[in-house]
Parts: sequence; structure tokens; C-alpha cells
Amino acid sequence: MAELCRYYACSAEEAENIAEILRLLAPVKRAGASIIWEGAMPKFSRRSLEKLSSCDPELQRLFKRVIQKVDCTILVGHRTRAEQERLYKLGRSRLHWPHSKHNSTPSRAVDVAPYPISWDLRDPKTLKRYYYLAGFVLGTAREMGIPIRWGGDWDMDSDLSDQHFYDLVHYELV
Ligand SMILES: [Zn+2]
Repeated sequence: MAELCRYYACSAEEAENIAEILRLLAPVKRAGASIIWEGAMPKFSRRSLEKLSSCDPELQRLFKRVIQKVDCTILVGHRTRAEQERLYKLGRSRLHWPHSKHNSTPSRAVDVAPYPISWDLRDPKTLKRYYYLAGFVLGTAREMGIPIRWGGDWDMDSDLSDQHFYDLVHYELV
């Protein structure tokens, strides 16, 4: 136990907990299986998964990979006619039904926000998290050979300041 205390630089009580965990894991280790700490890996909520299931299989594949490393929430997959027209009126979409990629079945677009969600995009702290997520998504998509476009760089020229319309949650298949 003293050895554990030294190794983990922890108290005797914490060492006791660690020893207990190691005891529980011993059979797994003997079986040669690797251990993934459930708590360390983000995963989608049931609502996120439901929304993602309305999307093209390629988008599903991509975001199921993304969630393994960076926590995020699926906001919208497929969008109905009524919802599309409502957003158009609010100026939050530039397109009438059925011209948004969210309108196809399955949806060829998905809106995703970093988790925990914060909406105040005037706050630089919040804004950075959206760009951070996008970089990770775009890199992962490239690695997987899935061609996508992001609403923070529509022409995908890596100039993030030349958009007429910023839609930082929006990812679509090209
Ligand atoms: Zn969108």
C-alpha cells in the first residue's frame, strides 16, 4: 500500500481505492482484454443518437467517430418542411424547403454543437469551442475519406473570415 501511495502520490485512503480497482480489473487483465474507462469517453445522449439516425450513414459514421474524442451534441438532422420555413423566416436558414441539405431523407446535413452547449457566440470563449470542434470534425472526415463542407468555411478555402453567412453548427456532405 505504501508503494501505491508513493507511485500515485496519494493518501492511504486513495491508495486503498486504487488497490480495490486493480483487484477488480485483474481478471480482465489476465484475459488480455484492454480496458476503456467509460467515464473518460464522451458519448451521445439518446436524443442526439435519434437525431443522428435521421442522417446519411456517412454522417453517422463520421460523428460516431468524432464523439469518441470530442464531446458534442447533435442539434438537428432531418428538418421538416414546417421547420425549414420557420427558420427561413427567422433568417437562420437561407433556403426554402426542399433546398436545404437538411430536407433530404436521409438528411445530408447535420447541426452539431460542442458539449456542454453555450449559445453566446459573441463570447470569444464560446466561439473558440465551435472552431475547435470544427477543426476536429474536418480532420476526422478527411482521414475517413468523407467529403464534407462546414458552415464556418463554405468555400473550404481555410479563410474563416470571408463568409457571408456563418452557420458554425452546420456540416454537410458535398
Ligand atoms: Zn444546418
